[in-house]
Formats: sequence, structure tokens, C-alpha cells
Amino acid sequence: MVIGIDMDDTICSTNELIIKTADEYDKEVLNGTGIKDENAYEFTEMMGWPKEMKGKFFADKLEYIMDNAELKEGAKEIINKLHDEGNKIIIISFRKDKYLKNPFELTKNYLDRNGILYDKIFVNTGSKEDECIENGVKLFIDDKEEHCENVSNAGIDVILFTNLYNHDENRFVRKDNWYQIYDYIKEKYYG
Ligand SMILES: [Mg+2]
Repeated sequence: MVIGIDMDDTICSTNELIIKTADEYDKEVLNGTGIKDENAYEFTEMMGWPKEMKGKFFADKLEYIMDNAELKEGAKEIINKLHDEGNKIIIISFRKDKYLKNPFELTKNYLDRNGILYDKIFVNTGSKEDECIENGVKLFIDDKEEHCENVSNAGIDVILFTNLYNHDENRFVRKDNWYQIYDYIKEKYYG
């Protein structure tokens, strides 16, 4: 079957590196003291930055962050196993060229460098259901509620990948890691 998979905070831990890099940036570039509120919802609030700092920080650092974010545990093993078992892997990322020179190349290089098998990559997407429909995606995996909502409304199965800020969402099948995703797929689709 065709499986659609998000990149950031689904395949790689982007948010973790955003927070770590923002902490360093605050100390080294802005002469600040780093994280002020560990429990804030969004990293600019965590850092005590005005909203407009986000654009400047992303312009300076997002390329580095997306190129260096660590793979989630089990992501490579499970995605490659799914691919080897005959599933098509379609990467569907919201990454935009606003802060990135070439989001497609960045994503492709990252996946190739990390040895992740895939069949197609889409970046610069809208709400993602178009790519899912056009490519016959049967199951879609993403950490963002709104993407899961749009794709689910198109009649496609979704898995919400747990992250720091989607704990209250309970409309979708939720999985915390790639091993749980594999077990679920095996049980539900491999019959
Ligand atoms: Mg994501």
C-alpha cells in the first residue's frame, strides 16, 4: 500500500533542535540567559522572545536545524522495513522555501544521507490531502492535528505521531513511536 509520511517531528526530531538552537542563539547572539519558561507551548514563548524574533531566527537557523535534526528512534529501521515489504513511501512535508534555499534538496539529501528509503518527496505542500489523494495514499502519518484532520476528512486513514504539543488531541489513532506504528500496520493491514 501507499504510506504518506511527514518529515518534521515524525521522521526527525526537529522541535527538539529548534529549542536547543534557540537557547544557544539567545545566549550567544542576543546576550540573553536562554530558556525562561520550559513549559511554554511555543519556543518563542519559551525564550521570552517577541513574536517577530521567530522570522529572524528561522532565517538564520532553520536550514541548519532541518539538516541536523536527529532521526526519531526506529524511523529508519521501520520505514525501510515497510519499504522492503512492498509498501510505497511518499514523504509529504510542509517545509517551505520562505526560510530554506531549496526544501526539496534539503529533504532529499537528509533522507539519502541517513539511508531512508522512499519513492517520492513532496515539499511546500498545503494541507496535504491533495498529495495523498493524487498518490493513492492509504495511510498518512503526521504529528500535526490539522494535517491529520484534512487528510482524514478525505477518507484516508491517519496516525497522529505524538509530540510535545498534541497531547489533547483524541480524534485520531495515536502512536508514540515507530515501533508502535509498525505493530499497528502489521495488525491492521497485513492480514
Ligand atoms: Mg511535522
